[in-house]
Amino acid sequence: MEYTQMPKVELHLHLDCSLSYDVVYQLNPTITQEEYEKAFIAPPKCTDLADYITRALSGVQLMQTKEQLRLVTLDLFKQLKADNVLYAEIRFAPLIHLEKGLTPEEVVATVNEAMSLGIKQTGVKAGLILCTLRHFTASQSMQTVTLVDRFKDTNIVGFDIAADEAGFPIDNHVKAFNYAKTHHIKCTAHAGEAKGTESVWETITNFNPLRIGHGVRSYEDEKLITFLKERDIHLEICPTSNIQTNVYQEIKGHKIHEIYNTEVSLSINTDARTISNTTLAKEYQELENNFNWTKAHFLKCNLEAIRHAFTTEEVKNEIRQKLIHAYQE
Ligand SMILES: [Zn+2]
Repeated sequence: MEYTQMPKVELHLHLDCSLSYDVVYQLNPTITQEEYEKAFIAPPKCTDLADYITRALSGVQLMQTKEQLRLVTLDLFKQLKADNVLYAEIRFAPLIHLEKGLTPEEVVATVNEAMSLGIKQTGVKAGLILCTLRHFTASQSMQTVTLVDRFKDTNIVGFDIAADEAGFPIDNHVKAFNYAKTHHIKCTAHAGEAKGTESVWETITNFNPLRIGHGVRSYEDEKLITFLKERDIHLEICPTSNIQTNVYQEIKGHKIHEIYNTEVSLSINTDARTISNTTLAKEYQELENNFNWTKAHFLKCNLEAIRHAFTTEEVKNEIRQKLIHAYQE
């Protein structure tokens, strides 16, 4: 079926990996469509996660001034609206946007204000998650988590750790996640993507996240699946991205259907609308084509997503009603 018009919730989406050609052209008119496709979009198969992430650098380079950050944020809201996303959590790492002299506070304030405008213009509800990165120092990680605290009661709703889990250990970041815990900051964390179940265990034990970004390799450990269910830890699954980064050889081999059947809470996400050259509508279509997923599966995933969203009960109830209404028709 056609999923574009179906309402959706997205929890795992990187701002700097989702620039449309329209906004890239606006920011740098010398970039041709062909160059854009080469530099911003990853091929269907990358060597690994580290290879996939190199495409993010093109986006980050164009997001170094207030005006650039504003335009990229508004561009993403347009894309979300076109994909009929009702509620989205967008994430980015503010500390990689300081190259032209902005302070971390200015970066976050700029994206926060642009989000308020995007929400107003499109009606898409949204929250912003600030990411530390695996290769960051302990002090950069602390700086990022304290920014979440400083911007509480704005569009900023949580803290995440992203980037290459296989290349860098957790050590530098334990203190930041402890800070998040004592300051009641909601957390998610990338794990079980480039590394296996040991990385998910390590992340859960040391970072206490409410959700895991990807976490798909959890399926390899029955005890871990049981633990995720007991603690009601939600998996933000991004099917196409997982094939590109070589977690699985092809979509047919993805374990999402098996994970769904274990009743672990999960949602469907794009991860990176540009790098993965995808939308939620496309992801849903892939799942229908390969696993015979139906509206019932997508309703369940969307309800789980909104239940685990970092937002108010009021917003959750409103979105829930709209989802049930649309999918049960
Ligand atoms: Zn991600």
